[in-house]
Amino acid sequence: MSTLDFDIIIVGFGPVGGTLANLLAMNNLSVLILEKEAGLYNLPRAVHFDDEVMRVFQTIGITKSLVKKLIINKGTRFLDEKGKLILDWPRPKVITENGWYPSYRFHQPDLEKILRQKLKTYDKVITLQNSEVVKTINHKNFSAVEYKNLKTGNIFSVRSKYVIGCDGANSFIRDEMKTEMEHLGFEQRWAVIDLILKTKNINLPDRTIQYCNSKRPTTYCRNVGRRRRWEIALKENESTENFFKDKTLWNFLSQWISEEDAKIERRTVYTFQSAIAKKWKKGRLFLVGDAAHLTPPFMGQGMCAGIRDASNLAWKINISCKIGHNEKLLKSYQSERSSNVRDYINTAMKMGELLNSIGGSNVSDTVYLQKDGTIKMNSIKPKLGEGLGNSIDKNRGKIFPSFKFNFNKEFDDLFSCDPILITNKEIKNKKFKISTYNVSDIPEIEEILKSFNTNSLIIRPDRFVLGSTDKTDLRDFSQLCLKDIYNIG
Ligand SMILES: Cc1cc2nc3c(=O)[nH]c(=O)nc-3n(C[C@H](O)[C@H](O)[C@H](O)COP(=O)(O)OP(=O)(O)OC[C@H]3O[C@@H](n4cnc5c(N)ncnc54)[C@H](O)[C@@H]3O)c2cc1C
Repeated sequence: MSTLDFDIIIVGFGPVGGTLANLLAMNNLSVLILEKEAGLYNLPRAVHFDDEVMRVFQTIGITKSLVKKLIINKGTRFLDEKGKLILDWPRPKVITENGWYPSYRFHQPDLEKILRQKLKTYDKVITLQNSEVVKTINHKNFSAVEYKNLKTGNIFSVRSKYVIGCDGANSFIRDEMKTEMEHLGFEQRWAVIDLILKTKNINLPDRTIQYCNSKRPTTYCRNVGRRRRWEIALKENESTENFFKDKTLWNFLSQWISEEDAKIERRTVYTFQSAIAKKWKKGRLFLVGDAAHLTPPFMGQGMCAGIRDASNLAWKINISCKIGHNEKLLKSYQSERSSNVRDYINTAMKMGELLNSIGGSNVSDTVYLQKDGTIKMNSIKPKLGEGLGNSIDKNRGKIFPSFKFNFNKEFDDLFSCDPILITNKEIKNKKFKISTYNVSDIPEIEEILKSFNTNSLIIRPDRFVLGSTDKTDLRDFSQLCLKDIYNIG
């Protein structure tokens, strides 16, 4: 191992690669990021993320810069062809268990710049742009890539403990892993148009509107500052070139806005897809983000899912780098994440059917009829899939709430790199393999344990509960919970 160049090679420097690199760097790992493009991706993409993702951004220490670039998202309304509300998905302005508002709007290049800025503060992170990975080696004891410097054409070879493909929808690493995509159904071409308003006082909706229409499904997004977006389904065989002519576009947009009010910043076409890679790990190669799954963007969850992947994988990679390769721990990455992302994709696909007026408003089991006759939806919160911990433990896989203690210090900071045990009990013998806090260390723990209806909890670095117990022998409990993580017994 001493001859390896890096702990980790990340292929692809999109928002997911950038987040993962930060999570690994804060664990003091050496990271090489290889990106084939010279600069930032500049076509319209993600505009929304949620509280859980904001908490990951908090973990890597970028929220101070990020909040200046965000607005709080008010929610989404689905309207029928006559403009009648058929489904309301509000995002109330209330701080959630993750310590943030439920939903934010952002401009993707702003986030990517902030992620890159933060990475510059780590000595052991090297980023090479204009560098396309063209070959991988997946050896039992190490991994390696060959990359081409796209300016000079020269090929270089580097070795690491693991190679992580954050290389997007057309992932090269996925091809190298020889894994296929499982296609889940929804596939449709959409035009995406970003506009910048010329003046402030233009009367447009203050939230996302989904215009459900069998002929021309359309999404309107209220983005940050003066940015607004329209996403418009293209008809089969409709020519993009014709649709993108200024005259055709403005003619369509005239229902909401005119050329005097705004300028078109960017326009592009995407095929919205729904698919999950069959394998997310092969030996020492991994897939994260769009490389592992694709979702239509109607819930604004594609990138969010990728950030959740990064948060799940980073601490497992960290432990495997520090105390030795742990196959069982690393395998739990796909089983825990894939069922969670599948729930998001299925719900987004149902939203897509509703938008196309071929499906009903019952897009998830969080949809309910209100007394006033409107149909509302609460955000879905899929649990982690099976993996670490005991699946019959009622608290396993729940998110552990964020809270402040001791003059505003964040409790989250205690378990960003390793699991911790929190307990109501007086610990006499503190010789656990795990950092332990009890009520005499932090009084708030009592209330939190009450809300989980238990006496002791082990929390993972990604903020999920690993296990809970009312037993008195915490040594046995922690040993049992941690055996898959630290390869004990
Ligand atoms: C119109 C639209 C709206 C969306 N809205 C939202 C939203 O509101 N919220 C949300 O959460 N998600 C949204 N998404 C999804 C989101 O944009 C993607 O999920 C996210 O950008 C994926 O990030 P990533 O880092 O996994 O991949 P990417 O951003 O695609 O990055 C992959 C990187 O890998 C590089 N690369 C590829 N191959 C190689 C190679 N061989 N060597 C080196 N580098 C390589 C690429 O150049 C690229 O920079 C939207 C998507 C679309 C299309």
